[in-house]
Parts: sequence; structure tokens; C-alpha cells
Amino acid sequence: MEDRFVKAQERMISRDLRGRDITDPDVLRVMGQIRREEFVLQAYESQAYADGPLPIGMGQTISQPYIVALMTQELHLNPDCTVLEIGTGSGYQTAVLSKLVKKVFTIERFGQLSESAQATLGRLGIDNVEFCIDDGSCGWPRQKLDDALERMVKWKPCFDRIIITAAVPKIPEPVVKQLAQGGLIIAPIGTPGVQKLIVAEKKTERITKRFVCDVRFVKLLGEYGFEE
Ligand code: SAH
Repeated sequence: MEDRFVKAQERMISRDLRGRDITDPDVLRVMGQIRREEFVLQAYESQAYADGPLPIGMGQTISQPYIVALMTQELHLNPDCTVLEIGTGSGYQTAVLSKLVKKVFTIERFGQLSESAQATLGRLGIDNVEFCIDDGSCGWPRQKLDDALERMVKWKPCFDRIIITAAVPKIPEPVVKQLAQGGLIIAPIGTPGVQKLIVAEKKTERITKRFVCDVRFVKLLGEYGFEE
């Protein structure tokens, strides 16, 4: 890795993550391993480790490193987890998740962004991610779930964790249905201008919610998201 990136990445880890409230050693380790410059447009490479979002094309952004770390930490992942990510974008969050869990299913509505993310993760040798181009506000498409089912050993019918990386007016009902009992969803819930980052836990008969912080994400567009 180029020297300027090594130093910038170290600064990101110590100042923007550890220097705030990111304490999970696994999250810090993985974010110290994955090179964020691989996921940004060439024009923004020099800002790859700045603690802010950056344009990735199609009017979308790669999330701020601190928010990626925070959302990952709040998911309390383990190597047995199967995770659904809604909003692949650049694939940076996907890559971080892939290093901490068994399998990531990630869905993106823009084919161009998904294909670019697939190429990046392929280049990095990440092979435990399933990609889909569709409206993720409806959850992972049933047909694709069945296809994956045949290929996976010990597949559980639901996801252990779900991460929505775009703003939603509320957690889409079809997405809640795909979460396993005892599972967690993290999502920015609110208006297109500002949202509350919420962790929801699915318990036997109900969903409990916890506020994390105020955030600002691009909109999740689609049937159960915002209108275009
Ligand atoms: N985690 C990503 C964030 C991308 S921004 C990263 O760090 O790069 C949110 C993404 O959600 C955008 O790529 C946007 O196109 C996508 N998105 C918006 N509505 C969607 C929908 N209904 N289904 C799937 N993806 C959607």
C-alpha cells in the first residue's frame, strides 16, 4: 500500500474510530485491513480516509468510516452470522461485514454500483458475499433465497442481522419478516433530511428499538422506501 494511504488509514483508526467510541477490537482490526481507496472513485482517492461520505456515482455516496464502524459494532456480529445488507453502494461496508461473518447477502438497486462492488470484492478475494440487483426495500427476493438455499449447508430461513445503509421512513415490513428470532436490524429511520440510527431486536412477539445517534443517509427508494 502506498505510504500516504498507510498513514491516513492509521490516523482514521486512531482518531476517527478509536478516538470516538469504537472499541470492538474486531471492527478496528478489519477496518485497519480493508483499503478504502479501493472503493472510491479515482478523483476522490486522496480523500479515501477522510471521515466523511464521498460520491460513488449515480448520485450515491460511500458512507463515512465512523458510521460504517459504528453500525458494524452495533450489530454484535459473530462468525456464524448470516447478514442481509440493503444498499450495497461501493461495497465497502459489505467488505467489512464479510470479514466478520459467515455470509453476506447484499442488494442494490443500481446495476452499475453492484457490478462495480462485485469487481472490487472479487479483486480483494472476498468470496462469501452474494450480490443481487433489485429493490431491497422488499427484502431479499424469494427466488434468490431458494437458489442460495441449495448451495448453503445448514441454511437458516432468516437472516441473523440486517443492515439498511439508506434512509427509510420506517423499517420495511417484508424486511422485518426475513429477520431471525433474536436477530438485530440497524437502520437510519426518519425523513430524507435527517434520520435516527436505530437498532431493533426481534423478540418472540415484538420488536424493541434503541436509539444510537442522529445520522444523514441517502434515501432508500422503492416500494417500502421513499418515493422517487
Ligand atoms: N454502504 C454503502 C452505502 C451506499 S449509499 C457504502 O458505504 O458504499 C446507499 C445505497 O443504497 C445506494 O447505493 C443506493 O443506490 C442504494 N439503494 C437505494 N434504494 C435502494 C433499494 N430500494 N434497494 C437497494 N438499494 C437501494
